[in-house]
Amino acid sequence: LSDRLSDVFGRLTKKGALTDSDVSEAMREVRLALLEADVALPVVKDFVAAVKEKAIGQDVVRSVTPGQMVIKIVHDHLVEVLGGTDSPDLDLNAAPPVPIMMVGLQGSGKTTTTGKIAYRLTHRDKKKVLMASLDTRRPAAQEQLKVLGEQAGVATLPIIAGQNPVDIARRALTAARLQGYDVVILDTAGRLHIDEALMQEIEAVKRETNPHEVMLVADSLTGQDAVTVAKQFHDRIGLTGIALTRVDGDGRGGAALSMRAVTGVPLKLMGLGEKLDALEVFHADRIANRILGMGDIVTLVEKAAETIDQQEAEKMAAKLAKGTFDLDDLAQQLRQMRKMGGMQGMLAMLPGVAKVKDQLAKANLDDRHIKRQEAIISSMTPKERKNPQIIQAKRKIRIAKGSGTSVQEVNKLLKQHQQMADMMKRMAKLGKKGMMRGGLG
Ligand code: GDP
Ligand code: MG
Repeated sequence: LSDRLSDVFGRLTKKGALTDSDVSEAMREVRLALLEADVALPVVKDFVAAVKEKAIGQDVVRSVTPGQMVIKIVHDHLVEVLGGTDSPDLDLNAAPPVPIMMVGLQGSGKTTTTGKIAYRLTHRDKKKVLMASLDTRRPAAQEQLKVLGEQAGVATLPIIAGQNPVDIARRALTAARLQGYDVVILDTAGRLHIDEALMQEIEAVKRETNPHEVMLVADSLTGQDAVTVAKQFHDRIGLTGIALTRVDGDGRGGAALSMRAVTGVPLKLMGLGEKLDALEVFHADRIANRILGMGDIVTLVEKAAETIDQQEAEKMAAKLAKGTFDLDDLAQQLRQMRKMGGMQGMLAMLPGVAKVKDQLAKANLDDRHIKRQEAIISSMTPKERKNPQIIQAKRKIRIAKGSGTSVQEVNKLLKQHQQMADMMKRMAKLGKKGMMRGGLG
């Protein structure tokens, strides 16, 4: 799969510009990649259509190949559809005890995830957590949670034989209220398949406890089934979040995309192992990489984008080494500064300039200010930019008019340039010494 993608993108690489048919061809492969990752067909169709629309006509960044550009767009869109880079954590914003209900098929990891969440809330967030197993079907289920509670250092509701799930849930909430718990996690029973009895049971528990979070626990290794399960649970019970388990396995992760796309329910957590601490907030980019099976390509694209800045910075560093710095250089610096970190990145290449770097960081680098400075420079003639000393009164007035600024501002910029040029000269000397000592830092 990865090979096939690299192949198409390799072919795209050889072309100069990105055409509609290039994008279409690439998207055919992306479509196959998604299907192989077990993404549901309707979800794949929507996804491909959305990316096509985004990709066609988009500028190809210099020194990034069109193919890399497409794949970056695919990747970014996928991350966005999966919920973006800021994953929501569990929402506990309610009057305590906050009930959380865990639902899902048997074996999906409900009990384990219940333990992990309780462990995290207890030890990281210093919450007082009570866990209760409502699984009256599997003989040892309630015992399993009790043992997990002992391992995690989290209280579990004492087991009373013969109670039904609703009774247990009610008892859990009462106990939590009386004993001042912050959170109650209700671990419900699962089934191998969704059936009416299960749905009724969960509905009844939900009615009784009015949970603040209803978390579907879903195994990332299950493919197409996950969508049906998520949809049925959501339609019937109403979910507030999804916890994806077995992300440590080698599943393709397509289920995550399908569940999210079909239900709109946010992916909040992911399980990365059997241990109590193997729980993290959902990382959309990790799952996106896995779905596309092309982490390398994405890294490549990011590298390429970095290279652009790097190349410009190197050119500048070479100039500095000679000790020259005219207004064209300043203009370029300002552009880079606006791109963030340009100056810092460039300075990082010269040895022995840590102190100067700090000073610069403190200087006024706000965007609007920088744009005005750029306007002043672009109102100068090429000759003026190369030889700032020829800029006298008349020229200053013309430049101020041309850039919509004032003579004072022009003066200020010229002074600033002079200071920078002097500083650059000093740095160049330092730099040469540094190089003699053993190369660029
Ligand atoms: P339940 O029936 O939904 O309550 O599922 P369990 O919590 O009992 O989990 C079933 C099995 O899956 C157990 O062996 C767990 O250790 C395992 N499991 C759960 N979550 C994860 C996970 O994120 N990664 C791995 N590798 N195993 C998990
Ligand atoms: Mg269980």
